[in-house]
Amino acid sequence: MPSEFDLIRRYFTRPAAHADLGVGDDAALFRVAAGMQLAVTTDTLVAGVHFFPDAAPRDLGWKTLAVNLSDLAAMGATPRWATLAISLPSVDEDWLAAFADGLFECATRYGIDLVGGDSTRGPLAMTVTALGEVPAGTAITRAGGLGGDDLWISGQPGLAALGLAILTGAEKQWPNDHSPLRALHRPVPRVELGVALRGAARAMLDVSDGLAGDLGHLCECSGRGAVLEAAALPLVALREAGADEALARRCLLSGGDDYELLFAAPPAARDDIAALARQLDVPLARIGHLVAEPAPILLCEADGRTTEITPAGFDHFATNG
Ligand code: ADP
Ligand code: MG
Repeated sequence: MPSEFDLIRRYFTRPAAHADLGVGDDAALFRVAAGMQLAVTTDTLVAGVHFFPDAAPRDLGWKTLAVNLSDLAAMGATPRWATLAISLPSVDEDWLAAFADGLFECATRYGIDLVGGDSTRGPLAMTVTALGEVPAGTAITRAGGLGGDDLWISGQPGLAALGLAILTGAEKQWPNDHSPLRALHRPVPRVELGVALRGAARAMLDVSDGLAGDLGHLCECSGRGAVLEAAALPLVALREAGADEALARRCLLSGGDDYELLFAAPPAARDDIAALARQLDVPLARIGHLVAEPAPILLCEADGRTTEITPAGFDHFATNG
């Protein structure tokens, strides 16, 4: 049976490009470049809460890091360093090797170093802390949106929620499950987009708990209201995957696990943002606008009817599960 230190050496030790000292000492050492601020974020994935205990370890490794990179992206920060605290019920080296492969695949893709962590025995759970750099004063918070700003969303929010519905059997006999399941298992953090939006977006967050709920957070932090245009919502991929209109809307507005970027930007930035979408090959949909005064979020139908939408995002402590 390999020791804890053998396992760390074997599966979690790789050269760190941006650190003076990585895994293997009491703490990691790295330098923050002059004029930069550190952005720091932590996310935990717990078996049975965030993923099924039998989930593919390679996908889990990817997702554990990706969900944290999404938070850095949402600040406009460049990913640099990460730590991983992992709790394992037992040592399964095949599982660990696949998990590490997925994690380092994501780390390599986005240029982040794993510089430390902790490994313990316990219920299966992973916590990553990710650190990124952003030029001082340029981070994009949730708070800067102004009345009249356009609201934009990247990619295909809702697809992961559809994937979850398929997995749990809530939606049976699905004809086209590849893209929903991929969205659920392999979320793409919008790192390049987040960085490119510095100077263009006035407020931003990543959508992890449903568009309605997360837009509610942006509105609250910015002290604004919002109007969404139903006809502009990016529902195409959900329809292509076989969802009817009601299910597509429900997945988009109150699904979770999307890790797309939602941001507010002035109308004068429209051309630049459209150019960015082409350049980065990331779909960006302009889905509505902010209004100056705080107010409930309104959904405006093509025929002009409006309804209030309640920001019912996922809340761990508000449910019985
Ligand atoms: P300590 O007892 O001093 O906290 P540990 O035995 O927990 O040290 O860890 C030894 C080294 O391995 C440290 O550098 C720690 O950051 C690193 N480490 C432990 N677990 C992990 C992990 N899962 N991923 C990456 N690095 C890890
Ligand atoms: Mg330790």
